Amino acid sequence: MNNKTFALKGICMYSKNQQMIEIVDGYVISENGICQGVYENIPQAFDGITVLDYSEKLIIPGLIDLHLHAPQYPFRGTGMDLELLEWLDTYTFPEESKYADMEYAKKAYTIFVKDFKNSPTTRACIFGTIHNEATLLLMKMLEDTGMKTMVGKVNMDRNCPDYLKEESAEKSIEDTIEFIKYARKNFVNTEPILTPRFIPTCSDDLMVSLGKLKEQYHLALHSHLSENKAEIEWVKGLCPDSESYGDAYEKRGSLDQSGKTIMAHCVYLTEAEENLLKSRNVYIAHCPESNMNLASGIAPISRFLKKGLKVGLGSDLAAGSFINLFHAMASAIQSSKLYWRLVDETDAPLTLEEVFYMGTKGGGAFFGNVGSFEKGFQMDAVVLNDDNIECSKTLTPKERLERIIYLGKNENVLLKYVDGKIVKI
Ligand SMILES: [Zn+2]
Repeated sequence: MNNKTFALKGICMYSKNQQMIEIVDGYVISENGICQGVYENIPQAFDGITVLDYSEKLIIPGLIDLHLHAPQYPFRGTGMDLELLEWLDTYTFPEESKYADMEYAKKAYTIFVKDFKNSPTTRACIFGTIHNEATLLLMKMLEDTGMKTMVGKVNMDRNCPDYLKEESAEKSIEDTIEFIKYARKNFVNTEPILTPRFIPTCSDDLMVSLGKLKEQYHLALHSHLSENKAEIEWVKGLCPDSESYGDAYEKRGSLDQSGKTIMAHCVYLTEAEENLLKSRNVYIAHCPESNMNLASGIAPISRFLKKGLKVGLGSDLAAGSFINLFHAMASAIQSSKLYWRLVDETDAPLTLEEVFYMGTKGGGAFFGNVGSFEKGFQMDAVVLNDDNIECSKTLTPKERLERIIYLGKNENVLLKYVDGKIVKI
């Protein structure tokens, strides 16, 4: 329990909605880990509280990464010459198999967690590998940072190399239950989440059993949907009972009304699938850099937002190469411009306000009242120092934020708070 009440002084920027970024040169107040709002002057009720002075610095809510693969971090920035299915076979599966070796897992996850801690992200949903021991080690390391994460042990029992295939659906479920129980008993900041890799590598028996676990243990579920055209065709052949890829998840019990399901990518949804995801309160993790790197395509995010679908951003390491989620915001704007110019001129490009919203409050909603400085939200904040991006002209706060979105690096993060507690960088 953190009883500390304090204010951060600086240029506070946050989203209430997708259309506008609120900008207040003043104070954001935290009480017992909960944000009490943003003010130009400290209200009387908070007279005398500790003020941490970051005047002239930008203060924003922590960023939310809804989709990334921690074990793929070692090959980030390499192997971009293939499309999804060949990329998995050539680069991903051989790398993920190394996490059977705890010495390798420790070495790789130490590097990942160090960089992740230094990034502007405060909360994330993360894929591990099929290996319980290595995934729990990752969770222990993340737990110690104070950041809030949901981490999954991957399930896959078909259509993958023998060296990375679980021996049966039953064994996969048995291991998953053991994983959930251990994680819940030992961690507070890091929760278990179900992560079937995707329908092609998960048998019907496995998917149906995971759907039951979701209900029984009140778990969130995180997977991939409609990323690549060859993948979609493959699912059609594997699931003749289903009208679409989305419907295949629905029929196997992966979707429910809980608002605790994330589907990454959603590049080629049909209208019926869009309606299904909306009715099931599914969060779409938009991963624009990954979609470009693997030549998957461009997801029509403007349309999704207009339609009221829930959308957040994902770095999708290591198909995406940047751990810094500002990069995903810039990529989202850039790819939406290409979609508008080349595919559908009725879908206007995404705005700075919209991508900032998706990377904070939009994705944050998956974790509850997260991703804004409105009263009642969890106090996750990032203080940014952009002094090292030198410039001869005077910039407005909004221009400074835009510049950090396009040019920012982990070095621009001065410090960050999660639930009102400082994350040591
Ligand atoms: Zn992914």
